[in-house]
Amino acid sequence: MKDKTHILVAGAGIAGLTTALALARRGIGSTIVEAFSAPSEVGAGLQIAPNATRILREIGVLDALAERAVAPTSIRLGDAPSGRILLDMAITPKWLDRMGAPYLTAHRASLHGVLYTAAVADPLINILTGHKVADIRQDADRVTTRLACDAGEREIVSDLLVGADGIWSKVREAIPGAARPRSTGRIAWRAIGPASAASANKVTAWMAPESHLVTYPVRNSETLNIVAVTHGKLDAHNWANEADGEKLARLLASARSVTDLGALDKASWTTWPLSAVAPSAPWHHGRILLVGDAAHGMEPFAAQGAAMAIEDGYAAGLAISASRGNHSKALNDYRALRLDRVLRVARRTAFNRWTYHQSGAGRIARNMFFQMRSPEAFFGDLDWLYGYRITE
Ligand SMILES: Cc1cc2nc3c(=O)[nH]c(=O)nc-3n(C[C@H](O)[C@H](O)[C@H](O)COP(=O)(O)OP(=O)(O)OC[C@H]3O[C@@H](n4cnc5c(N)ncnc54)[C@H](O)[C@@H]3O)c2cc1C
Repeated sequence: MKDKTHILVAGAGIAGLTTALALARRGIGSTIVEAFSAPSEVGAGLQIAPNATRILREIGVLDALAERAVAPTSIRLGDAPSGRILLDMAITPKWLDRMGAPYLTAHRASLHGVLYTAAVADPLINILTGHKVADIRQDADRVTTRLACDAGEREIVSDLLVGADGIWSKVREAIPGAARPRSTGRIAWRAIGPASAASANKVTAWMAPESHLVTYPVRNSETLNIVAVTHGKLDAHNWANEADGEKLARLLASARSVTDLGALDKASWTTWPLSAVAPSAPWHHGRILLVGDAAHGMEPFAAQGAAMAIEDGYAAGLAISASRGNHSKALNDYRALRLDRVLRVARRTAFNRWTYHQSGAGRIARNMFFQMRSPEAFFGDLDWLYGYRITE
């Protein structure tokens, strides 16, 4: 026997939970199927900029997140080989007023936890954990999703399937012409360490030739999340592989003058491979739609991965509810609403990568540019990113 639901969401990650909550806030029910059997603490920190916190407020989870997150007081760009801060941009009350929403940093588990708790509490959302999408078929009238679960197998028939199953998406295979994730040849390293007075409550990006490090507080101002990006390959599809800290120290030899990073030698490092999904390829077909990393996974150079998943989920909820059952319209409207935005963020991500990893003369020119730049001008240039609002 097959189960039936109106909207099936594959993946209870950031994008899937936001989609279901955005739908529920408009009175539309959904079923989420998720591979994990229970949420875990796996992962590291995330930056959640005003373009995302604005939406989290809209779907009713911002207050709960604010209790588990930190509001950093400034964003800094530093040159790792010299240990010099080039630009220190205070996150002022005036800027926050203009944005109308906070800039937060948190552990991924905190953001995921508040979304998950809100979804579990919502009578319009049904979450089936331990259900992994194995196969998808669709015809003109419906989508049939086959799931692997403890009981063996199960099929769910739906009017619409939203693929929110992350960078290594299974749902994406059902979209003709969809992009495949490609390894970028870089890996992310992560550790948690104690914050020094110099780094407490600040987001700092330390730029180094061919690599960079970002530090920011998670949970409280004493706990520093350290993420480094270097060249390298890793085949595992996993968010937490054990890593060799000494190897990282060798790769980051030019960053040894960065004083905040006492944790670098002692910390226990985990690592994950960085992959990307070309955002211009198709995201929808028939009754199937992709959101978040499944549609356009990006490297973390603009710190917008979670924020894009939140924007996507919210936009998908709006497009589906506004279409009043016309699925083809919902999917086309969603793509029209999101494409230019996602392409622009992807271009910014590529630009930041190019800037951060400069060496030689490029590094000298970059450092001069940042030192001459005023914080106001820098933030002003990013109004399109942080000030973005999705309206009905
Ligand atoms: C455990 C975990 C830890 C992470 N840690 C970090 C981090 O520390 N830093 C960072 O920048 N990014 C991290 N990410 C990725 C980050 O959450 C995403 O890049 C971003 O938030 C986009 O969200 P998403 O919802 O599109 O994808 P994700 O947040 O990756 O969510 C995808 C969800 O789909 C589920 N899923 C996958 N395949 C299937 C399937 N076949 N059937 C059913 N469900 C499936 C996954 O279990 C997951 O819950 C992590 C992701 C996960 C899943």
